[in-house]
Formats: sequence, C-alpha cells, structure tokens
Amino acid sequence: MGVVRIDHIGVAVSDLQEALKVYRDGFGMGDVHLEEVPEQGVRVAVFHVGESRIELLSPLSPDTPVGKFLESRGPGVHHVALGVENLGSMLEELKSKGFRLIDEQPKVGAGGAAIAFVHPRSTLGTLIELCERPKDKG
Ligand code: ZN
Repeated sequence: MGVVRIDHIGVAVSDLQEALKVYRDGFGMGDVHLEEVPEQGVRVAVFHVGESRIELLSPLSPDTPVGKFLESRGPGVHHVALGVENLGSMLEELKSKGFRLIDEQPKVGAGGAAIAFVHPRSTLGTLIELCERPKDKG
C-alpha cells in the first residue's frame, strides 16, 4: 500500500517551552524547527531524528482537537504518522476496506505535507496520521 516509514510521532504538550526543555535540553536534540499550523490548531516543535521526527504539539486554543485531547487525557503520545507515497489512493483504499476516516480529503500539515487522519476506532485505539511529503511521490 505504500507505507514507506514512520514519518513522525506526535506528542501533545500543554506548555511548549517546558517540553522544549525536556526534548531539546534534556535529550540534546538541538535542531528544532518551530511552526504554527492554523489548519490543525497547533503550534509545533519539530525534531529530526534520522528519517523520522518527533513533533511536539501545543494547542492554539482549548477548543482545538489537541486542546480537547489534553483536557481529557493529559499530555502524552497523541498520534503516530505513517509516511505514504500516494495519500489520495491510500485514502480510497482504506475507505473501501471499511476504515473510518477523519479526513476523507488530504489537508495541509506541518512542513507543508499532505496529511489525513484515520479514526482510532478503526485502528485499535491509536490515532494514525497518513503523511505524504513531496519527495515521496511515487
Ligand atoms: Zn502529525
């Protein structure tokens, strides 16, 4: 189906500065890129780890998906993102297999990637993001 890697792990945090102390200063991951993604209602800190990334997500307001996640579950792993080669056809295939899609059409995510979320009820409890970056087009 064209899953090519674990693109990133998304971690929900309530305080980005506090989280930077842990990941940047604690683990010594210095190469951090900060970005606001209004479409997803988050401010993101991206750490490159080999060909994968860790994305720290802090909500722009309490009524965003990450804001609601924090309120009900507290900080922690929010989603796992799989890098795919053709997001459009992957979404069609999953839909035809009965998966419940949160996004039936790709949206814009951090770094300008095309992304779409699959509902955790279809994946045994893990929120899965599919992520296509321009260089992955097959
Ligand atoms: Zn993500």
